[in-house]
Amino acid sequence: MSIDPIRMLILGGTAEARLLAARLEEDMRFSPLTSLAGVTRKPSKIAGEVRIGGFGGVEGLREFASREHMTLLVDATHPFAVQISAHAAQAGAQAGIPVLRLERPPWDRRAGDDWREVADIDEAVRIIPQGAHVLVTVGRQEVAPFLERDDIYVVARMIEPPVVQVLDHAELLLARPPFTLKQEKALMEEKRITVLVAKNSGGDATFAKIEAARELGLPVIMIARPEKSSLTTASGVDEMMVLIEQHFF
Ligand code: NAP
Repeated sequence: MSIDPIRMLILGGTAEARLLAARLEEDMRFSPLTSLAGVTRKPSKIAGEVRIGGFGGVEGLREFASREHMTLLVDATHPFAVQISAHAAQAGAQAGIPVLRLERPPWDRRAGDDWREVADIDEAVRIIPQGAHVLVTVGRQEVAPFLERDDIYVVARMIEPPVVQVLDHAELLLARPPFTLKQEKALMEEKRITVLVAKNSGGDATFAKIEAARELGLPVIMIARPEKSSLTTASGVDEMMVLIEQHFF
């Protein structure tokens, strides 16, 4: 007698979510379905089933998870994606489906780092010194307030173009991580960058910019992670697989 594989909903949009889907998909006991918001036009390939687009709030997510017979929800969204994590926690509680979080640890300040830690995007925009050449790496959805400052020069790097118009005092670089230390130093030197703005995303794929700033003696305006509700959390895919094993077997 064959046993149906365990259905699991992964809320994705991160490298970790992709790695987890690959691990679960190769294991006959599980059947993962990854959900993406649909903000990236050409997302990287994901193993297993994929669906794209918002659910329509907590209620939509709860209904989807119940209808699709999900037995576990894994919130593997980006540390800065606050709303979907809140929805996952609420929808799981309402539907009686357990929710686990997969979240990479934040970067820690090391010797030689010159970080100005700020609470959010607005504070980051406010403290950039006049006349600065800023490398802004906050993503296409949050770049707009930086472009409104016409007393600085903004080099805005992101994967896909923003919806806002890029003006004379700014330029756009479209590129997909990972980046090497050599590439990041070359970019900062070529563009005469004096300040880097980054979210404390953690992980390896975009860490080279932090190292490059350290080696070049540049300050980093580091945007702290927003608060999320507390859930049982794994910091990597191996740890998440242990939590999943413990949960089901
Ligand atoms: P958000 O503000 O937390 O969520 C906004 C809305 O987008 C949610 O209410 C939900 O719509 C929909 N949504 C978000 N993630 C979804 C998912 N995985 N599947 C289905 N719907 C989703 O999210 P965000 O900060 O805009 O980020 C959007 C996506 O990009 C996330 O999946 C995240 O993992 C990824 N990402 C974000 C960042 C970042 O810096 N924020 C960086 C890299 C990747 P409904 O209410 O209609 O369900």
